[in-house]
Amino acid sequence: MKIVMLGAPGAGKGTQAKMIAEQYGIPHVSTGDIFRMNIKNGTELGKEAKTYMDKGELVPDELTVRILLDRVAQEDCKNGYVLDGFPRTIPQAEVLDAELTKLGDAIDYAINVDVPDENIIRRMSGRRACVSCGATYHIVHIPPKKEGICDKCGAELILRDDDKEETVKNRLNIYHAQTQPLIDFYTNKGVLKTVDGTVDSAEVFAAIKVILG
Ligand code: ADP
Ligand code: AMP
Repeated sequence: MKIVMLGAPGAGKGTQAKMIAEQYGIPHVSTGDIFRMNIKNGTELGKEAKTYMDKGELVPDELTVRILLDRVAQEDCKNGYVLDGFPRTIPQAEVLDAELTKLGDAIDYAINVDVPDENIIRRMSGRRACVSCGATYHIVHIPPKKEGICDKCGAELILRDDDKEETVKNRLNIYHAQTQPLIDFYTNKGVLKTVDGTVDSAEVFAAIKVILG
């Protein structure tokens, strides 16, 4: 099963993608996590990606597509995956589509987690991410058991630099201009499913399970 998660930054794509990955036994592939891991490890890729990410801009398609295609070519992705944060532009979606077509394959579901802009800024300022394993929490809606500490690995939780309010506004503008057109792209392919992302995360997941079966 090959799944693409769509939605604004902060809509809950990562939260749902992790639950899907666990339930259906497929890897969760997040380009944002791959970039953050590279930043943490001080790689050249990380240094380049950081210059865009800090401003809330998109990392150029050429670079992003390359790392994504490398990742999905790995052995653990052969039975499917859930993509979170990719594609984010029409050219990225076209390259992915062409690569899958070459393999006689296609995306099975594009799940659009729908959350209005008004809710997003509030959500992002409450998001906390683990510096080590990338797990995400929300200080009000999905709190860790111990404040500031990751439930899964015990490392520190931080507010991401790109979750500051001004940067979030920029990310939302870029989302509407460049990523939202993917809703039409996947509608035209007959695989788009929209879920209400404003409800509790367990309810969102229940709606997704109805779609995926
Ligand atoms: P995305 O991957 O789309 O950027 P996240 O999954 O990281 O979004 O979610 C953004 C923030 O909102 C996080 O702090 C997360 O814990 C919280 N969150 C996720 N789903 C919900 C929900 N259904 N209701 C309230 N908060 C949520
Ligand atoms: P995310 O963790 O998905 O919110 O991504 C964090 C940041 O990483 C984004 O704001 C972009 O700067 C960058 N990024 C992640 N995925 C992509 C992508 N598919 N295309 C371009 N930039 C991306």
